[in-house]
Amino acid sequence: NNDEDKLLVLDNVTKRFGGLNAIKDMSLTVKKGSVHSLIGPNGAGKSTMINIITGVYKPNEGRVVFNGRELNNIKPYKIALAGISRTFQSVQVFGKISVLENIMVGGHGQYRSNLFDFTFKSRRGRKEETITRERAWALLKMVGLEDRASEFADSLSSGQQRLLEIARALAMEPDLLLLDEPAAGLNEIEIGNLAQIIEKIKAKGITILLIEHHIDFVMDISDAITVLNFGKKLAEGTPMEIQGNQEVIEAYLGK
Ligand code: ADP
Ligand code: MG
Repeated sequence: NNDEDKLLVLDNVTKRFGGLNAIKDMSLTVKKGSVHSLIGPNGAGKSTMINIITGVYKPNEGRVVFNGRELNNIKPYKIALAGISRTFQSVQVFGKISVLENIMVGGHGQYRSNLFDFTFKSRRGRKEETITRERAWALLKMVGLEDRASEFADSLSSGQQRLLEIARALAMEPDLLLLDEPAAGLNEIEIGNLAQIIEKIKAKGITILLIEHHIDFVMDISDAITVLNFGKKLAEGTPMEIQGNQEVIEAYLGK
């Protein structure tokens, strides 16, 4: 069945802010197990897409379908419990608790009070009140921050805080991980490290939807790329296809 390959489908989604179409008639299919990137100039509608998918904004028109279920009228915390986790364009860690504790509170704990009206199929581990120390530790290791476990999160560099945010998002055991500009402010070495971490996440079967401006990084790690411009889809394809697309070069890639 072809539909089983589709983890996330946006079907003709429009989101308006006043008179502005932040995204207009947007359709998108993210395949299970893929790394799918959204690229495009500032203001193209990339973050709005993530906010639609996570239920922060409701679409004015169109449908969002995740794992075969329509998300349109589902609250953000239920969407998170259904298996969609995210990081933010501006890093959001808890500065005055430890690095390890950041992961522990980022897991099931923050959703605990809402578990009783959780209507999606129950998932492995979702009934736990918080994630275990062992699991938090494993996630820290995965992002290479185990040496910093007991320090305050605000003692980390901004690149390390981004990795901590990824580990915290993974504590929710998502099927889909949304990363909004994870390489922003990272140096070349940190970007290489991030690419390896994304490969590890993908190898665990987690699908990734990535917003990113570092184009070499995007070309390197993506299975599919969708290019947005003025809230519309300009092009879509493999990294090879996108790199050679004249419209994309003119709107975005060209200097
Ligand atoms: P990108 O992430 O691609 O840079 P955004 O999705 O943040 O773009 O924004 C798309 C457009 O929608 C921009 O013109 C932006 O100013 C506008 N926009 C985004 N969020 C809001 C909001 N909450 N209220 C009003 N306008 C918004
Ligand atoms: Mg943005």
